[in-house]
Amino acid sequence: ATPAATMVGTTIGAQNGVLFKGGDILERAKDVDTVVFDKTGTLTEGEMELTDVVVFDGDGTPAADGGEPATDGGQVEGRKRLDEDRVLELAATAEHGSEHPLAQAIVDGAEERGIDVDAPDDFENVPGHGIRATVEGWEPRRGSGRASGERSEPRATEVLVGNRKLLRDAGVDPEPAAETMERLENEGKTAMLVAADGELIGVVADADTVKERAKAAVADLHDRGVDVMMLTGDNERTARAVAEQVGIEPDNVRAEVLPEDKSDAVEAIQAEGRKAMMVGDGVNDAPALAVAHVGTAIGSGTDVAIEAADVTLMRDDPVDVVKAIRISDATLQKIK
Ligand code: ADP
Ligand code: MG
Repeated sequence: ATPAATMVGTTIGAQNGVLFKGGDILERAKDVDTVVFDKTGTLTEGEMELTDVVVFDGDGTPAADGGEPATDGGQVEGRKRLDEDRVLELAATAEHGSEHPLAQAIVDGAEERGIDVDAPDDFENVPGHGIRATVEGWEPRRGSGRASGERSEPRATEVLVGNRKLLRDAGVDPEPAAETMERLENEGKTAMLVAADGELIGVVADADTVKERAKAAVADLHDRGVDVMMLTGDNERTARAVAEQVGIEPDNVRAEVLPEDKSDAVEAIQAEGRKAMMVGDGVNDAPALAVAHVGTAIGSGTDVAIEAADVTLMRDDPVDVVKAIRISDATLQKIK
């Protein structure tokens, strides 16, 4: 392209909230035949909300009601050792120090239910899997051990909140929660297992909302003959439920991709001879944005993502992804 055409294209882009980092990028964008969207924060709002708390009995079977969220506040006599608030309190305490959106939704959800959430005594992030924490002074039952002025020894509870692999790696069998997990995941929610001292005690779930214009963006890309894929650390079932909502084919979903493997996933897609545009918002997405034919960052995303990207979308509108390709196409066609 001539410098003049490039300047026109870059200017039109800027006027539309699409910032190309250079003329070469403007030229490259027209060749994109596959758009790979990150899920959380890119196709979805990234504002999680706590939606479910399911209590499991000591032996790992769903409490009293067969795994449906307890609505009785744990009043089922003789069956339920724990109540929802206890499980939620423990999960929220463990997550207190984590900045993960899943964690913050659990803490906020607990506080909204009037639970005081303290910091854990110790915690460790397990990237892509969850959190491991030590919580002192947590009692399985409200008030237990404090009856008739009696004081129990402060006891440390080892807590896990996260996916199936997190529990399995710690020697806790997630299988008894399989049905509950699947039900929640089929609703597009991210379900997380909660374990205390090596015992499965519950499941908590967060939900995110799909961005209003995500579906239109996918449809416009399909109309242009561009394939659309999704890349996420979230589990397969949740990812597919979200993909269905926005019109992405189940086969085009790459789920359970660890943060450090996102760039490999994009490289694998490009190894099929595709020219991929990766669209992401998070720190996790930066390496994938860098290896893609075109890396596109959502402007409301993290600085790290914006720095690694070739294109920045100033508005939080997935349809601007199509705009970026269209501007590139139009600019270069004129001068051909
Ligand atoms: P995403 O790509 O959707 O941001 P991550 O790679 O951060 O996902 O995490 C992948 C999965 O690991 C999550 O879906 C969740 O099951 C689990 N996970 C990660 N962080 C946490 C956390 N702080 N608490 C509970 N579960 C977590
Ligand atoms: Mg994201």
